[in-house]
Amino acid sequence: MTMDKQLVWVRDPNEGFILARLHELMGEEADVFPIDNKYPKRVCSFEDIFPAGDPVKDVDDNCELMFLNEATLLNNILTRYKKSKIYTYVANILLAVNPYEDIPDMYSSNTIKKYQGKSLGELPPHVFAIADKAFRDMKSLKMSQSIIVSGESGAGKTESTKYILKYLCDLWAKGAGPVEQKILDANPILEAFGNAKTTRNNNSSRFGKFMEVHFNNKYQVVGGHISHYLLEKSRICTQSAEERNYHVFYLLCAGAPQDLRTTLKLTKPDEYLYLKNGCTQYFTSPASDKKINANSMSKQHQAKGGLRDPILDDVEDFERLNQALSRVGLTADEKLAVYKVVAAVLHLGNVEFEEDSGARGGCGVAPKSEPALQAAASLLGIDPAALRLSLVSRLMQSSRGGAKGTAIMVPLKTYEANNARDALAKAVYSRLFDYIVHRINTSIPFQASAYYIGVLDIAGFEYFQMNSFEQFCINYCNEKLQQFFNERILKNEQELYKREGLNVPEIRFVDNQDCIDLIESKNHGIFHLLDEESKLPKPEFGHFTHSVHKQLGVNNNRLQLPRSSRLKAHRTLRDDEGFLLRHFAGAVCYNTGTNFVRCIKPNSRMVGRTSEGGLVLTQLQCSGTTAVLELMEHGYPSRAPFHDLHSMYKAYLPPKLQALSPKLFCEAMVHSLGLSDKDYKFGVTRVFFRPGKYSEFDTMMKSD
Ligand code: ATP
Ligand code: MG
Repeated sequence: MTMDKQLVWVRDPNEGFILARLHELMGEEADVFPIDNKYPKRVCSFEDIFPAGDPVKDVDDNCELMFLNEATLLNNILTRYKKSKIYTYVANILLAVNPYEDIPDMYSSNTIKKYQGKSLGELPPHVFAIADKAFRDMKSLKMSQSIIVSGESGAGKTESTKYILKYLCDLWAKGAGPVEQKILDANPILEAFGNAKTTRNNNSSRFGKFMEVHFNNKYQVVGGHISHYLLEKSRICTQSAEERNYHVFYLLCAGAPQDLRTTLKLTKPDEYLYLKNGCTQYFTSPASDKKINANSMSKQHQAKGGLRDPILDDVEDFERLNQALSRVGLTADEKLAVYKVVAAVLHLGNVEFEEDSGARGGCGVAPKSEPALQAAASLLGIDPAALRLSLVSRLMQSSRGGAKGTAIMVPLKTYEANNARDALAKAVYSRLFDYIVHRINTSIPFQASAYYIGVLDIAGFEYFQMNSFEQFCINYCNEKLQQFFNERILKNEQELYKREGLNVPEIRFVDNQDCIDLIESKNHGIFHLLDEESKLPKPEFGHFTHSVHKQLGVNNNRLQLPRSSRLKAHRTLRDDEGFLLRHFAGAVCYNTGTNFVRCIKPNSRMVGRTSEGGLVLTQLQCSGTTAVLELMEHGYPSRAPFHDLHSMYKAYLPPKLQALSPKLFCEAMVHSLGLSDKDYKFGVTRVFFRPGKYSEFDTMMKSD
């Protein structure tokens, strides 16, 4: 059948969607002609074709699109991004596309002032609007609030978090006082110790954090607190090609004054094994390279090797860190102690071992590594002989007939000693990180707090070529977050609709309880099996994954063999190479007590003004944003109790109307404003509005 050439979006593996005209329908498929003739005409399944609406017009809230589907969502986001409008809403969820360049006036004090006290939707979407909403909700609901900032690496979570904190501190503290300054000072310190250059982000946070800003009952800032999670420890000892270790190592080797470096016995970064993995060469760069802009980003990205980052000035950054540590109250001696621990980790990494025939099959410290061992011991303030012994042997308590026998030292093989050294380095550094966070927390003045606004900045689901325990923990944490959404928000939302008699069709969502049980169940979850494995005299990776499959794999569609094992031609499928866990990637909640900022990375090259549609679409799908948009077709994301609306708007109406009961008052208002009955519903206790309609209502009320 020949069509009237309707404009449609058709799925494309690279662009996400491309614009085309519908040419002919053929059973379950259609013949389409792309508008841009660089794409060939094609046959598409109906599933991959969506009505386009007006592809040029962009809207602040994606729910206002004429057609709500993943293609129009993607198009709206990309159309706006090209105009430097990086923010949009899906109802109350903020989508933030990383611009990779400074947008003039975007975060200025003037902009902060403009957003004060404004309802969502009154002004263009902005991360400040979410911060302000959290503040207003805290005040009106008398309840602490949280803002969950999510997105993949490099999507802009940490930057968004900083803007939220800046907004809360700047505006509501009426100028940065001691508490606010300390909260803002925490970032350069946390980033020096917990951020690193990766292939996906030059300043990637390798830990999660929850930053709380506390308020008294007059809603003034009175304190702050930082919790941190899951510092990536493997990075302390090894990094992938073209990635770096934590910034602080380079700041000390290359940025600290010479006398401090002498005290720490530090030489050049390329002399430390813990800094050389993934890097080839150290070179110094002119300070003029420093400005972070789109050009230097791409230049930096092209630079092979990670030891030296042309856009970073180690001298200046060391000075900034040193001053920030002083401001959070570390004395000169305490700062030196911190630097000594960092340097000790580097020296420890240079301790190598070799077989020692005199050590009963064990190993000893290689003679060339003696200076490193001595340096590590002296910086840590421990006896070098004790350090040596603990690296090349382990203590074993023999037991006879159940009674504890004598303790004996068992010599370690070279590879075991290497593991012992790395484990020690990781433990020392991660405890140093705990200490740093603790010191920041104790430095923030704290008075009795009534409420807080907490901002969560944590890595999203991670999938690498090689996924270790660290990715497992991050993904587990994301499953829990997803469960939180499902439980507290999606389920509650539907229950509320039912209670209020709204008659909204039931919204299906993927329940991930089974995945969580698989991980955490007390007697047979993956954590339990791991715990058991670690108690064995010789724990083994292959044995562990074998037990996972054996005990949990039967009839479990969440658990599979890894692809390499499944492809084995000779059919002896192996279960000792790992396991594949099917994590959640479906619908999320949309209403928002908790507030959501969903960050989006526009391209993988880390440059401004460039977008890769396919990459953006995948992020929208995996974050559940496209599913949320579908849910919006039926949902009522804004709602307000009758009595709240009555007290908020009665001043705008004549006394006769003011005297009505809250419910009648609300009915009178929506009728007098001529709102279509598709835009709202009356529940038992409150009015519910379709996406974007509450702000329309609010504007009409105030302007009438
Ligand atoms: P990770 O998970 O790796 O920590 P992330 O999501 O925290 O990544 P950010 O470090 O916040 O990502 O952002 C990466 C870079 O993108 C920043 O260093 C900055 O250069 C740029 N960027 C992010 N957000 C903005 C913004 N709003 N304006 C300008 N540049 C930005
Ligand atoms: Mg980050």
